[in-house]
Amino acid sequence: MESLGLSPGDFRTAADLARLPLISKKDVAAAPERFRPAAGVVRTALNIQSSGTAGKPSYIDYDARALFLSLAASQRRRDVTARFLGGGFAFRELTIARLGSVSTQLRDFYEANSWTPRRLDLNRLMLAPSEPFPTVVERMNAFRPHLLSGYGSYIGALLRWAHSQQCTFHRPRAILYGADGMPENDRLLIEDEFGIPVLSSYQSVEALRIAFQCEERRGFHIDSDQVVLRVVDATGATLPPGVPGEVVISNLTNRATVLLNYRQGDVAALSQRRCGCGRNLPMLESIQGRQDDLVRLPGGSVAHPLALMAVLQRVPGVVQVQLVQQELCSFLLRSVCVPAADWATRSE
Ligand SMILES: [Zn+2]
Repeated sequence: MESLGLSPGDFRTAADLARLPLISKKDVAAAPERFRPAAGVVRTALNIQSSGTAGKPSYIDYDARALFLSLAASQRRRDVTARFLGGGFAFRELTIARLGSVSTQLRDFYEANSWTPRRLDLNRLMLAPSEPFPTVVERMNAFRPHLLSGYGSYIGALLRWAHSQQCTFHRPRAILYGADGMPENDRLLIEDEFGIPVLSSYQSVEALRIAFQCEERRGFHIDSDQVVLRVVDATGATLPPGVPGEVVISNLTNRATVLLNYRQGDVAALSQRRCGCGRNLPMLESIQGRQDDLVRLPGGSVAHPLALMAVLQRVPGVVQVQLVQQELCSFLLRSVCVPAADWATRSE
């Protein structure tokens, strides 16, 4: 702020945060102390570690107040899932998560620092995403969860396997994923073949609650009391609704690590749609995934590979697709395909 000649009085609305320089994962990893308040100002309640799917792990300090505000925002998601689960907040949830994941670190904190009335608490079974599929199906059949949650990629692969094996499995009333994406062909299989609604939630280690899908499952509602979310182009300029660009967030609650105007590294577009559910939180059209995986286009712009891959993944018989950008206008496409008759034996 000093180098830009700005003072706190120059920040009147959330939009003014765009006047600050953009910061990246790299900036925070290189000098985390620059984003923490002076010693003694805020007490760190939890140092969350995120391994991420690419690059080095990140460590973000959180204060207790921010963690409880995040818990309050998660009630918005439970309100949505409760409608699919047939009302009531107490239900059985099977979570596919690895020990030490961000969600388990958070859960440990809440269990140690809060109390939930039993009638509101849910009954949870956790399984690691390294468990063999037959074991998961066996445990699922015994536990009979109302909700199945966890990694989208894993749940997609699990149910695709169950489909190929034609094995009997207990069908949850809804599926909720958040940590990563679910391949579109898996989501279609789960919704169309099994009739299980799939919900998604958007969060990161830098902002624990960013956006969530409501009952309509068209776009995401932004937790605008938790984050300010902008979509920017390559130069950092704010893009209008409907135009995809990089997500930049300012975490409004965390005072133990202050992240303002932070490049989240996902691609999304804001939406001006008024959602039929009646919530008036601002909306994102869709979230296209991690920025590490972008495809370069002529003219300096970029596209998320899912925009190309999702179409390829819908082709019947295609099990796996890999797209390698060799040069700006030169791609290598590898695919694993099986004849429809072999699907049952090969798709695992
Ligand atoms: Zn809605």
